[in-house]
Amino acid sequence: MTEMNEKNEICETCPLKGSCPDQGSEEAVTCMADEIDGIKHKIIVASGKGGVGKSTVSVNLARALQLEGYKVGILDADITGPNIPKLLGIEDQGLVQGADGIKPADAGGIKVASMALVLSRQDSPVVWRGPMKMAAIKQFIQDVTWGGLDYLIIDLPPGTSDEPLSVAQLIPDLSGAIIVTTPQEVALLDTRKAVNMVRAMKLPVIGIIENMAGLACPHCHQRIDIFQSGGGERMAEEMNVRFLGSIPIDPRICSLGDAGQTFVEGEAPAADSFRLIVERLENILR
Ligand code: ADP
Repeated sequence: MTEMNEKNEICETCPLKGSCPDQGSEEAVTCMADEIDGIKHKIIVASGKGGVGKSTVSVNLARALQLEGYKVGILDADITGPNIPKLLGIEDQGLVQGADGIKPADAGGIKVASMALVLSRQDSPVVWRGPMKMAAIKQFIQDVTWGGLDYLIIDLPPGTSDEPLSVAQLIPDLSGAIIVTTPQEVALLDTRKAVNMVRAMKLPVIGIIENMAGLACPHCHQRIDIFQSGGGERMAEEMNVRFLGSIPIDPRICSLGDAGQTFVEGEAPAADSFRLIVERLENILR
């Protein structure tokens, strides 16, 4: 294939086709390359619906990998609900334009790019239409100086609409997707769609994580299955997808998240479960 055909093919399959100012030009060819090409594993974290803990999994996965000595970044691709900076306690940072590109924010060693770091006020809604959102993501991919990362965790917008699909299609050479669900049937219904969305992109589903799987009663220590139990594992089996593990409900996950801290480094059953999940993941990607 000639270089020109290759360029055209990149533009042809790009979700920004028709609205990109660089279409067909030299800039378009290099648009998705360079920085992001130097990253070993690019993993999307997706969910069939919001509120299941997708962003919580993203930041704790990033922290766990970083604690193991890997170089890690997070691309918060949830343009309208960018919560990663809040969960990592870096809302007061911004993205700075340097000589070589946009310098990512730093969350104790994790590099972060998020729309929340660009907005002047945390409570400002992002009311952009599709092409503008895609252009912002494209800029994060193209212009952020990620450096040679081992892992880039990409927190996708929730759901299975056009938006998560288009965002994922913008990022070249993805390693695969982790799908986060909760155990109850209504969530699983949407999670099946998320698995099919990833398959439609011809991407490997690395595995399913079941979050909010039971709560240990602080008084009697009996497990209470608030959102049922075992649904994620059954569904994974049914859909022939790897089950990575489950994380119980733990009120500290919520309070630490609100305080901008991760829970994975702590001493708790939820942290133990999460570390096991990360271990499995590393073995799969090795
Ligand atoms: P999503 O990204 O899927 O919308 P979030 O990661 O923002 O979901 O999580 C939604 C809320 O649930 C947050 O307040 C988070 O701290 C809390 N949360 C997530 N997982 C757990 C858990 N296992 N136990 C307790 N709270 C959790």
